[in-house]
Amino acid sequence: MTFDYDLFVIGAGPGGVSAARLAATHGAKVAIAERDKVGGTCVIHGCIPEKLMAYAASFSHVFEDADEYGWGKVRRRINWQQFMAAKDKAIDHLSQLHIQHLNEAGVELIYGQTKFLDAHTLDVGGRKITSDKILIAVGAEAVKPNIPGIEYAITSREMFELKQQPEHLAIIGSDQIAVKFAGSMNALISKVTLIVRDDNILPGRDQDIRTRVQESMVKNGIPVLCNANIEKIEQVKDDFCLSLSGHNQDTITVNTILNVTNRLPNLNGLDLGKAGVEVRQGAIAVDEYSCTSQKNIFAVGDCTNRPHWTPVAIASGRAFANTVFANQPRTVNLECIPLALSSQPEAATVGLTEAEARDKYGESVRCYRSSFQPLFDSIAQPEHKTLIKLVVDGNSNLVLGAHMVGEYAAEIIECLALAIRKGATKKDFDTTIGIHPSAAEEFFTLKNE
Ligand SMILES: Cc1cc2nc3c(=O)[nH]c(=O)nc-3n(C[C@H](O)[C@H](O)[C@H](O)COP(=O)(O)OP(=O)(O)OC[C@H]3O[C@@H](n4cnc5c(N)ncnc54)[C@H](O)[C@@H]3O)c2cc1C
Repeated sequence: MTFDYDLFVIGAGPGGVSAARLAATHGAKVAIAERDKVGGTCVIHGCIPEKLMAYAASFSHVFEDADEYGWGKVRRRINWQQFMAAKDKAIDHLSQLHIQHLNEAGVELIYGQTKFLDAHTLDVGGRKITSDKILIAVGAEAVKPNIPGIEYAITSREMFELKQQPEHLAIIGSDQIAVKFAGSMNALISKVTLIVRDDNILPGRDQDIRTRVQESMVKNGIPVLCNANIEKIEQVKDDFCLSLSGHNQDTITVNTILNVTNRLPNLNGLDLGKAGVEVRQGAIAVDEYSCTSQKNIFAVGDCTNRPHWTPVAIASGRAFANTVFANQPRTVNLECIPLALSSQPEAATVGLTEAEARDKYGESVRCYRSSFQPLFDSIAQPEHKTLIKLVVDGNSNLVLGAHMVGEYAAEIIECLALAIRKGATKKDFDTTIGIHPSAAEEFFTLKNE
């Protein structure tokens, strides 16, 4: 049987684009479908606009610090429309670069909503297309909790399209996306209130990091309302009134509500049943080679139950292309994935938390912590402290996790991720010469508590 393509990819986000390009480079005839803009959540509605917002926000602290360093006072008010226009331009440029890279690799780009007609046939915006192999890379979409009035809340996607800067923003959520938005918008001089259902932010992260980030947010003037349930949201003229129960039995009036509580695989309208693709707990079920229950159909990225991060989607897309089109079987090692939070201050983490390490290694776990004032802040913000922490198995001396809250945390932890993955011991850390003066050097001088 002949097909229109060797590979058809649904979704031009990081997972789909990386797989399509590499498969085409290996000689396959490839097409990719996209219903929105090329680049996916990461480039258009996620990582990139959020990081640009964090960069815009970082000036707020730099201006304060500049004053202390002798530069004098700088105007601290962002022109929202100017920033949003600059952000849109940068995103368009990145999207165009992705299109160019697809073209250069020989991948055909087709715009349109795509669904299955059978295991080898797709409907792409009304056009019937057949393919030998199909890769599903449709990502995930925000979902809202079932609260009366939740329709007044926007999602992260709309947040990046706001024409006016919110005066008072309520953020519903506790994970990294909620914390990042809260930090950035607060530094951009919106009034921000974070509403958290649990007793702490950043579920699943190391407790020291959770506590330190939350304390810093409160210090920066962000009320973090924990153990708070939202009973209802009502519109009152141009504002919205949130009625809370739980520890905070309060009402809050804001002019914008951002809901970032959950994201689920984007499977609606794909007609997966027609292709015999199994869905388990709301995500496409895949084996270690990203193969679904239908042997010619594969899935990568946020539509699977793998961690929802861009580098995971890219690594899975590349492993799939190498396995299927270059006869080089590849799986993705999902252990030790470093994560960063472009919060204010920045935080980053890799490997096991202290609690996870104690569960796995018991009494032998040793933690090494330091909370210190970075040199930069000795002039600018004497009250600012950086926190670093290593989690070590006392028996083998292996470093199991590294965690940090402070300037450059993402860059520093990324490098430590390699050392930890390669099996670095605490002794290796102790015998490494640091760069002085730097925050990173503190990781190499940590003493027992
Ligand atoms: C606010 C926010 C911040 C984030 N920050 C980070 C971060 O700092 N670091 C990080 O690593 N990750 C971050 N993420 C997560 C990251 O964006 C995702 O993990 C990544 O984009 C997943 O890539 P993907 O290729 O699986 O899917 P996506 O990037 O979601 O791409 C899927 C594409 O498929 C298209 N599509 C869907 N259905 C169809 C269909 N039926 N037909 C045609 N096209 C279709 C969509 O339009 C989309 O373009 C963030 C996410 C959000 C929302």
